[in-house]
Amino acid sequence: VIDRILIVGASQAGLQVAVSLRELGFTGSIALVGDETHAPYQRPPLSKAYLAGKATVETLSLRTPEFYTEHGIELLTGTRVTALDLDAGKATAERGEQLGFDQVALTTGAQVRRLKVPGADLAGVVYLRDLTDADHLAALMPAARSVVVVGGGFIGLEAAAVARAAGKDVTVVETAPRLIARAVAPLVSDFYREAHERRGTRILLDRSVASLTAADGRVTAANLDDGTTLAADLVVVGIGVDARTELAAAAGLTVDRGVVVDPHARTSDPRVVAAGDCTVLPHPAAPGQLIRLESVQNAVDQSRVAAATLLGQQAVYDAVPWFWSDQDDLKLQIAGLSMGYDHVVVRGDTEKERFSALYYRDRRLIAADSVNRAPDYMVVRRALAAGHTIPAELATNTDVSLKSLLRP
Ligand code: ADP
Repeated sequence: VIDRILIVGASQAGLQVAVSLRELGFTGSIALVGDETHAPYQRPPLSKAYLAGKATVETLSLRTPEFYTEHGIELLTGTRVTALDLDAGKATAERGEQLGFDQVALTTGAQVRRLKVPGADLAGVVYLRDLTDADHLAALMPAARSVVVVGGGFIGLEAAAVARAAGKDVTVVETAPRLIARAVAPLVSDFYREAHERRGTRILLDRSVASLTAADGRVTAANLDDGTTLAADLVVVGIGVDARTELAAAAGLTVDRGVVVDPHARTSDPRVVAAGDCTVLPHPAAPGQLIRLESVQNAVDQSRVAAATLLGQQAVYDAVPWFWSDQDDLKLQIAGLSMGYDHVVVRGDTEKERFSALYYRDRRLIAADSVNRAPDYMVVRRALAAGHTIPAELATNTDVSLKSLLRP
């Protein structure tokens, strides 16, 4: 019998495993252990509404303190698990605490990649991953005049949009030849460059920060590889994250840029499941390929499957991925996985900042990026879930509703 389940990592995924275990009728003990000092909270608003001062810690919180006691979830914050002995069924935490378990869920998330240039440790150089980071950045923002954002991915662009809306002089420095290259097609990257430039943000592509200059221990300038120097009293670094796999690797689980899981969220050891940002999973349409999905959707849906697997129930992770990013008044919603597309069509008007990019592979719809066109996103998400497609040549006509174009 399974009496004790240990969940390592107390964020969106870890909490969801605990909640789903109870929903599925598990009556044994659940320990939800995390190294952050806060109870589980929503991370996405940190670089959006929270940074802009439009959300509070209370609104970010995923559950009330009472929820944990009412559901018999033992929440241990500020506790870092340092070792897992799967055979002995024992975990050890940083201060020597021992936690016994029958099965484990790893929901350890991801950590920011650090900028490795001279001056990267100076005061005024900040990251944006957890609440502590966001509070630190929010405290520095009001006095800042010139903000350099390193990395033109989602985090960098969201932070840039908040800083620009607050009247700062903002420059984004991106090493790749285009923005958000990991997630979107070139035409969407171009759209975002122009949209940020229209709002007064400087976008520098194909450039990297070579060093940071200081005065009195605080950053004052960013020196780029092409010899340019940018004044900077605040440097926000958003150059991506890496899965936190130390614990899994040390416990002997298979790791490949993330904890490797199957469609049941099972790791290479039958006693351990894993879910959320720390995992790599088989691409639903290209099973030989492992992908990492950094999203709330993945954290929630994969954790539901992980909970069922822990209880010996058959569950398969086949949810349609979705994601969003808010940059100023641009609301981007992504449905599906565009990876491996061979054709893109645009529906709507990029100039008016209202359009959807629809991605195809072998003439079938596989994904869409919608900017300020929520209805398109909804139709595509439902279509993908139902296994439907929308003919590319008809999708561009905005006089015709997308819904009316659905085909099996
Ligand atoms: P995040 O979640 O931090 O936004 P992404 O992977 O979406 O992560 O974006 C990170 C971006 O940072 C990518 O566009 C990548 O090309 C860029 N990048 C990576 N390293 C550097 C660097 N040293 N300087 C500038 N940009 C970088």
